[in-house]
Amino acid sequence: MSDHPTNSQSLSNSAPTDTLFAKIVRREIPAKIVYQDEFVTAFHDISPAAPVHILVVPNKIIPTLNDATPEDEQLLGKLMLTAQRLAKELGIDKSGYRVLMNVNHDGGQVVYHIHLHLIGGRPLGRMVSRAD
Ligand code: AMP
Repeated sequence: MSDHPTNSQSLSNSAPTDTLFAKIVRREIPAKIVYQDEFVTAFHDISPAAPVHILVVPNKIIPTLNDATPEDEQLLGKLMLTAQRLAKELGIDKSGYRVLMNVNHDGGQVVYHIHLHLIGGRPLGRMVSRAD
């Protein structure tokens, strides 16, 4: 599953007008939404990597972190603070958790609508200890 613009919109360089996550934001396809406001939506990952696995997405489509602009500064902060608040609400703030964003192919991005993964509820180990 990939909704990268180069797949779904042939060779167009324009931003995609729709994504899987935009459909979830508009509640056109089902998801277990845990938080939504005017700017962001958070819902359970359909294929959780841990007991807690929430995706926090901006309501507006930004395909990858590379496409974010200075105008998005507040929105990006809001994604982080939403993840922080949900971690508290879901009781994993003290035990610990991981927040990450995959970018493009090598980063493992599959859905081209930026999203933070909030993952926790079990020891996650060290993901990166050195660059090689
Ligand atoms: P990424 O690889 O960072 O693009 O992550 C995409 C994530 O979206 C994966 O963890 C998927 O399990 C998750 N995902 C895909 N489709 C859905 C869906 N319909 N509802 C909730 N999560 C989804």
